[in-house]
Amino acid sequence: MQLNRRSFVKTAVQATAALTVAPRLVGSTGGPSREPLRQFNYADVQLTGGPLAEQYDALHAHYLALSNDSLLKVYRQRAGLPAPGKDMGGWYDRDGFVPGHSLGQYVSGLARFGASTRDAACHEKAHDLVEGFAATLGPDNQSILRASTNLWICYTLDKHFAGLIDAATLSNVSGTKDILSRVLAGARPLLPARGRDRIGKKDPPYDETYVMPENLFTAADLTGNPAFGDLPRRYLLDRELFDPLARGDDPFPGQHAYSHAIALSSAGKAWLVLSDPKYKQALQHAFELLTTQQQIASGGWGPNETFVTPHRGELYNSLSSTVDHFETPCGAYAATKLARYLIRLTASPANTSHADNLERVVFNTILAVKPPDSDGDYPYYSTYSPGAQKVFYARKWPCCSGTLAQTVADYPLNLYFQADDGLYVNLFTPSHLRFTFAGTPIELTQETRYPAEDATVLTLTPASATAFTVYLRVPGWLTQSASIRLNGKRLPTPTSPGKYASIYRTWRAGDRIELTLPQSFRTEPIDELHPETVALMRGPVQYVALNPTPELSQQRLALPSSLKKLAPQSFVENYAGNEIVFVPLYRVQNETYATYFSRA
Ligand SMILES: [Zn+2]
Repeated sequence: MQLNRRSFVKTAVQATAALTVAPRLVGSTGGPSREPLRQFNYADVQLTGGPLAEQYDALHAHYLALSNDSLLKVYRQRAGLPAPGKDMGGWYDRDGFVPGHSLGQYVSGLARFGASTRDAACHEKAHDLVEGFAATLGPDNQSILRASTNLWICYTLDKHFAGLIDAATLSNVSGTKDILSRVLAGARPLLPARGRDRIGKKDPPYDETYVMPENLFTAADLTGNPAFGDLPRRYLLDRELFDPLARGDDPFPGQHAYSHAIALSSAGKAWLVLSDPKYKQALQHAFELLTTQQQIASGGWGPNETFVTPHRGELYNSLSSTVDHFETPCGAYAATKLARYLIRLTASPANTSHADNLERVVFNTILAVKPPDSDGDYPYYSTYSPGAQKVFYARKWPCCSGTLAQTVADYPLNLYFQADDGLYVNLFTPSHLRFTFAGTPIELTQETRYPAEDATVLTLTPASATAFTVYLRVPGWLTQSASIRLNGKRLPTPTSPGKYASIYRTWRAGDRIELTLPQSFRTEPIDELHPETVALMRGPVQYVALNPTPELSQQRLALPSSLKKLAPQSFVENYAGNEIVFVPLYRVQNETYATYFSRA
């Protein structure tokens, strides 16, 4: 930890460059049979434009601008050290709901932003925060974790691990592996002997042992410290979650939504490490249940943070009974991680469903949140009631202030995946990818205005002519035929919705693929008991009505047939003398909006 700043930044940049060629993420111990598709490293992919990059760049700057002294203040106070800087407020302070809980997530987000953008300032900030945190560990290595003052030991510990893992692997902060082992040693006497479920949203025990295994497996692998022992396995939520899921049962109704959804990442990790097929089966069945019985059009689930009981119209009822429909940054973190695990572990050219849902969640939930302010106010719940508005959470620095950084910093991981025989293209957004195939360095640029327009252009630049397959996602939502042009010529390649179109050839520098995905409107019912209450979708994007009048919810609309285009992403219809303008939910800023309509 005694690195001076300049040598640190230099090392971090070199480490980032070195990571570019590393084929696997730390802790990915699965091997090809368990993990047929591999995630790229953050350093391999850059966002270069479009709505995702706009939000990504804004939040990169936002998290870089947080005050280190304020972030470390409660830690320093607890350690009896000088604690300059302003109080954070909300959840984070000495008397807050979970003091200091999200520090590790900010470190994690900064390290991830830094790895993709090569911004040395992010790595430097991660370094300073880890160093500041280490100085508060104290003789017992417990830092902020104190049973007497913190009801959320496991919850906070998991975030410490996440931040330290990313600081070590992405920002190359020296000494971090040792700090991970010290944090584990300090937490050991505070940890419960066995894993336990959290009952519902409000009933004790609150602490969530089962969110920890994914990071515990990774930390054990990274440190090689035998003290991690069987902890990761001990806290896997087998009996209550993974065993019933693997059997084909539905353990979700009534459960706290986010914590159980993020626990699925631990099942993904468990499959990679332990090779027990029940974890893969559990993930697959969980995805099926979440997308067919819990999820609404945006890709969100869990009104009031609770999974519904299916077939009772509870999703429909929630439109009028609450405004807390989806805990968005946290829920989107869980949903995008689940989709990426499934893409990696169950890849098939015949199935785009995991990537389709990833796209839905990204465009309509996390991209659609209200940007945070300068005073700890963050988005938390998305609202899908009539006359909704995007609002901040009532208390400052909630959980979602941490997952917002991580989910958005993970955008680069969602776009491309590497297979033994080539490359999968999953999301359509301006970007740059650098990878190697059979030893040949290859660059790929993607240029597009999607989803405002239908086409995307991929240009490949291999260092030398190289044969491999490019798999292009042809989304399941398509109702008109996709088309593919290669160097200007239409290809006869089959493009069935819901499958990947595959192009095998010897690629040469400058080869240009143009993929066109005609987006059209469709409606999706909120649940099977209310088929006439529908959301309006266009391709992957949910459209909402701006400035809805109270009468709009009473009206039956002839959706989607009669919409007229005003601009690439705004459409208008005249209903009973009212002009109603529809725009993507992610484009709404401070206006009121309506997400569900009665279909004529
Ligand atoms: Zn949250």
